Amino acid sequence: MPTRLFIDGEWTEASGGALPTYDPASATVIEEVGAAGQADVDAAVAAARRALDSAEWAGLLPPQRAALLFRLADLIDQHHEELAQLETRDQGQPIGISRQVSVSGAAEHFRYYAGWVTKIQGTTNPVSFPDTFHYTRREPVGVNALVTPWNFPLMILAWKLAPALATANTVVIKPSEVTPLTTIRLVELTQEAGFPRGVVNLVTGDGSVGAMLSSHMDVDHLSYTGSTAVGKLITKASADSNLKRVTLELGGKAPSVIAADADIDAAVGGNIAGSTLNSGQVCAACTRFYIDKKREQEFVEKLAAGVGSLRIGPGLDESTQLGPLVSERHRDHVERLVGVGRDEGAELVVGGQRSDGDGYFYNPTIFTGVRDEMTIMREEVFGPVLAVTSYEDDDELTDLITRANDTQYGLAAMVWTRDIKTAQRLSAGIKAGGVFVNMPAIPDMAAPWGGYKASGWGREMGPWAIDAYTELKSVWVNYGY
Ligand code: NAD
Repeated sequence: MPTRLFIDGEWTEASGGALPTYDPASATVIEEVGAAGQADVDAAVAAARRALDSAEWAGLLPPQRAALLFRLADLIDQHHEELAQLETRDQGQPIGISRQVSVSGAAEHFRYYAGWVTKIQGTTNPVSFPDTFHYTRREPVGVNALVTPWNFPLMILAWKLAPALATANTVVIKPSEVTPLTTIRLVELTQEAGFPRGVVNLVTGDGSVGAMLSSHMDVDHLSYTGSTAVGKLITKASADSNLKRVTLELGGKAPSVIAADADIDAAVGGNIAGSTLNSGQVCAACTRFYIDKKREQEFVEKLAAGVGSLRIGPGLDESTQLGPLVSERHRDHVERLVGVGRDEGAELVVGGQRSDGDGYFYNPTIFTGVRDEMTIMREEVFGPVLAVTSYEDDDELTDLITRANDTQYGLAAMVWTRDIKTAQRLSAGIKAGGVFVNMPAIPDMAAPWGGYKASGWGREMGPWAIDAYTELKSVWVNYGY
């Protein structure tokens, strides 16, 4: 597998040296990957610019462009197991998650947007001028930088790359330096699928490479998924350069409200899935639990038994349910916040320490007696750390909405109840991009994905991603002259 940069259809050496990427289950280096420098970034952006209007790309008819995306989806399927193993080795997630969520999810995303290629429409509009015909066209935004995080590297890249290509854009991809391997392999598959040179470019490297793209004068749109802190830096870099469009999918701190009438077993199962998937390294993971006081003891006991029975181990072991955290640095971050939770007076029910093994394993952790102002209720832990608090009864619903909204984030929320009134009041009141009633938060290509407040700008998936990757042109034709 090449570990270099992919610029203008060629694998080239990076000018900034190399960076190691680790297997988080064994804390050993898997590969060294190129570190791009400014000249590489400039070359990649220039290649994307040239390809944008080329006859080989812009000249493709919609069914021809769709065929390329369908072919890429088929290639992902053909290399399904190889990609799944690579994702697990580099990211740590259990192999079943890699197969079903990351790889299948990526293939389906390309297939879904391949279907869109032939259905991207404008409108005709009844403007109030005589003898004037007005219509809209959807045109590619141009050169897109796609900057991705380490938690679901392949799947999140697909969320961006599929609609970008469906709408005839060109791209420069910058994966997280922590998990670059499946991105490199996917870029190879785009080459095999037959995308013309310069349409897909890849620059690997650390955050400085992302910063070069954010401040680049010839990038038209930067689609970013990652932390809110870096999202702010990108926004500022855009403002200070060419005011490129930015789409931001940022951090979260999702509340999960469990009402007194909830099916507690379903709520326990759903909340364990929703908080420990990928070891809690999920932007929409539920991490703040508001349980009706009457059901608190039962809920906490069952939750503790459930997370306590999760099998922790290397992701490549088929029986593993909880893999390692992605890196030593990230485990230190989770460990530090658990320590802060203890110091601030939260009560530890289970977990609270590393688990055995050479890798970056961390035991799932539950705190009770958590107060709203505590750090673990406010900061994104991004690990298997569950903070439980309670409320008195249904009369406190309005209060509860205020408490759930008392955060800078607004990505997702969960509500567990059998009462349609409670479900509706909370779904309407909680400020989040997605509210999930009696189910954990899951993305789906047919439903919008994105956040309120500091969780981001814009929406991915469905027709909303078509908006993100197109400019809407307004055309006026006077035929009365
Ligand atoms: P991160 O912000 O550290 O890194 C994300 C990407 O940004 C990486 O490719 C990194 O190299 C790059 N980067 C770092 N500094 C940069 C800079 N100054 N300019 C431009 N790019 C820079 O995020 P992470 O730790 O990889 O991912 C975890 C975060 O992602 C969490 O906050 C999580 O909530 C968020 N996330 C959000 C969603 C969503 O859909 N909203 C999905 C997944 C993850």
